[in-house]
Amino acid sequence: MSLKQIYSQDNAIDTFQRSMRLNRLSHAYIFAGIDGVGKKKTAVEWAKTLLCESPVKSEAEDGVFLDNCGECESCLLVEANSHPDIKLIYKELIRFSEKPENRKKTPIDMPKDVIDEFVVRQVANKPKKGKKVIYIIDEAERLNAASQNALLKTLEEPPPFCVIILLTNRLDKLLPTTLSRSCVVRFGSIDENIVVKKLEETGLDRAQAVYWARLTDGSIGKSLEFSKLRTKGINLYEVKKNLVKKIESLRLETALETASWLVNTSKEIAGFWSESLENINKSDISRRVNRILLSMVVSVMSDAMKLNIDRDSEITNSDQRELIEAIAKTYDIDSCIENIQKVYQSMEWIDSSVNERLIFEEMLLKFTESDNI
Ligand SMILES: [Zn+2]
Repeated sequence: MSLKQIYSQDNAIDTFQRSMRLNRLSHAYIFAGIDGVGKKKTAVEWAKTLLCESPVKSEAEDGVFLDNCGECESCLLVEANSHPDIKLIYKELIRFSEKPENRKKTPIDMPKDVIDEFVVRQVANKPKKGKKVIYIIDEAERLNAASQNALLKTLEEPPPFCVIILLTNRLDKLLPTTLSRSCVVRFGSIDENIVVKKLEETGLDRAQAVYWARLTDGSIGKSLEFSKLRTKGINLYEVKKNLVKKIESLRLETALETASWLVNTSKEIAGFWSESLENINKSDISRRVNRILLSMVVSVMSDAMKLNIDRDSEITNSDQRELIEAIAKTYDIDSCIENIQKVYQSMEWIDSSVNERLIFEEMLLKFTESDNI
């Protein structure tokens, strides 16, 4: 992997090239964009290039393109995730806290102690191997006010050898004080064709590949993650197909049964997922699964809305077009909009830990109030 091999994130690559050319690397960056579009990968490639012992320069339209060599000791250490000058900061680091009472915690927010112990008190330490130390703070949207305030002084005046990169999918969760001290680099969605091609390379058929690319808004990371669930006992794609069928046949008398099915399916996926993802706590995983299922429901309702507006629209669930056409007959445009709003409200409740069965039941019953049957 090198900077040149990063998909469709020209803005991030250009920002880096420009600041290297002008010798104006900022001390703090915020990489903002939806999950799975390569923010972390790009941050690591930036870091790798900054630390590379013999960076490669090549001609580019607007000057020189600087990239890492991928072969020196430093590059190899980065690729093995063991370079001492790249510090990946994530909330689960709390398990390695110096305070014993912290070690058993499974935090939802980024704990202030993680920022204090692993960033603020470390930044003065000189690089061990290269000329820079790069802190990559994952899920910065989970920095609460206390953690952001703890980080402030460091963002303001880090030592000259220090670069801090915050990764986030929610720029609005960062305080103005954090934003004003950092350079924001926006990450866009990746072109659908690139995502589809990448998924097809993993053996997925086109219909599935198109579905995942559209559902995730062009996120390669998420698409790969979701589609992989097919090979490990659970088939998330089959779940989505069933879900569309169930929404099509949803009636007042089947709403509670469908809600139960959603709860059980969600538990099954979360249980399986938690076996393969070690560093993430269980409630995070189940929230994530519920959000995926709800995003599938949103896609069904917005597809139905699109078909109500224009029968020939391109839709996310193009592989089940006939069922979506039937759903579009059941729910008119206004009902679709109401239902989409309802699902978004359900997503907020999922985040605030309301009982998931209640959330699904409420949502589906609301749908049946708005149908034309
Ligand atoms: Zn190198």
